[in-house]
Amino acid sequence: MGRAEGRAGRGHVTLADKGYCGTSGATAAAGTGIWYVPPEPEARARAKASREALGGHLADHGWMDRVLDRTWELVGELATAGRYPFPVDADGRQIRTGVQGPEYMRRMRTRVLRAGVRILDHSPVTELLVDRSGVVSGAAGVRLRDGEDAGYRVRARAVVLAAGGCAFRSGTLGCHPNTGDGALLAAEAGAQLSGMEFSNAYALAPLGTSLTKTAYYSYASFYRSDGSVLEGAGSTKGRSVIARALLDEPVHCVLDRADAQVRAAMRLGQPNFFLPFDRLGIDPFVDPFPITLLLEGTVRGTGGVHVRDGDCGTGVPGLFVAGDTATRELICGGFTGGGSHNAAWAMSSGSWAGAGAARFAAGRPGSPWGLRPAGGVGLRPERGGTGPDQAEVVLRCRTRCCRTTRTCSGPGTGCGRRSTPSTTSGEPSGRDCARPTPPRPPCCGRARPPR
Ligand SMILES: Cc1cc2nc3c(=O)[nH]c(=O)nc-3n(C[C@H](O)[C@H](O)[C@H](O)COP(=O)(O)OP(=O)(O)OC[C@H]3O[C@@H](n4cnc5c(N)ncnc54)[C@H](O)[C@@H]3O)c2cc1C
Repeated sequence: MGRAEGRAGRGHVTLADKGYCGTSGATAAAGTGIWYVPPEPEARARAKASREALGGHLADHGWMDRVLDRTWELVGELATAGRYPFPVDADGRQIRTGVQGPEYMRRMRTRVLRAGVRILDHSPVTELLVDRSGVVSGAAGVRLRDGEDAGYRVRARAVVLAAGGCAFRSGTLGCHPNTGDGALLAAEAGAQLSGMEFSNAYALAPLGTSLTKTAYYSYASFYRSDGSVLEGAGSTKGRSVIARALLDEPVHCVLDRADAQVRAAMRLGQPNFFLPFDRLGIDPFVDPFPITLLLEGTVRGTGGVHVRDGDCGTGVPGLFVAGDTATRELICGGFTGGGSHNAAWAMSSGSWAGAGAARFAAGRPGSPWGLRPAGGVGLRPERGGTGPDQAEVVLRCRTRCCRTTRTCSGPGTGCGRRSTPSTTSGEPSGRDCARPTPPRPPCCGRARPPR
């Protein structure tokens, strides 16, 4: 959940979440590394340089500095005011470079409630509301727990979209609700997207699972189906080698580079990494297990809504963005924001967007009126009639997007394969995409059919 902040005042801020706020979305299921770097010139310079070339030198130094400063401040606040139980090193110093998602998000929910924010759980926003001059003035959605017909509308003098990214229902961990709703809602209100060409991040997972926690694969060796080592394969550098091999044969992996001490530490550090292995009776340190790649789209990719100013404004009056809904090109360029940058961005951008929205709201007299819904195709078909239904749109979209053959091809990707046409059934292949999911009600993952 992007952190939205502002001088709200009791009852003045409403937070609508598609799931149960604090348990839904990518952070809640993950153990999250944070771009938390002390304000020392050398350390900061190293931190900024670490992904600069990988990102094609597209990141902005001003924004990187700003995010590093704000993240330092906010993580400090989490430790002191939030009393987050960071582990300590041998000298008794807190290690603040990561958080356990469930614990972190539980504390964030408590904090939001203490600030007097009204939370609407299980209440996906389906469209924004705009006034006669195009100022975003609220949102409408559905209260799932009250039955499908229980629509709601919230009038507001400003709106922050922090609805995560889009993982195309690929099955990646914690991303089932991340269907790109923020991007759609923003685009419908007139905002622009940016960096969407950098949104083809794939995560490693044991085949048939949603376990896309990738940090421990730095201890992995990768093997072809005949048992020979897959040269050049790796988790951080060398994922495209795996992608290419997977087009032709199963790839197996074993975490055999971890010694006994590291193995014990790994179990303590990320217990949920081992759950699927324990259930399947696999010892990942000894038994080779088949792996796959699952699309993480704009969750660990960097594209999103274009950020126009320091308040994370979108250029559409009254509309602000945070977290994965916003582009992270500003700090990552064209490289993934996973592993550290994205968490720092979610915190920092949430605080700026919240404060910006609060300022905008304070400068807007009276209650917005004469509102019209901004939702388009999917809710209000322009041409009516017989377009594809929602289930078909979702299936076509996943078929097109999830495959490595679609997104990991062409010059510069290292895959050396051209796109393959979709299968005649339109069904994603089990190898390239996780289990197909059943159709959802239109409020979840509202998909815009192709025009
Ligand atoms: C397995 C995994 C591990 C990761 N590890 C790291 C890491 O170590 N370091 C790092 O920096 N990044 C990491 N990332 C990326 C990081 O988790 C995301 O960048 C971060 O969660 C973004 O926060 P967010 O609030 O924008 O989105 P999310 O945490 O995804 O939250 C989105 C929220 O929006 C809600 N929502 C969605 N649609 C709607 C709607 N229509 N109406 C209302 N609510 C809606 C969801 O229910 C959810 O609560 C990881 C991602 C994954 C998947």
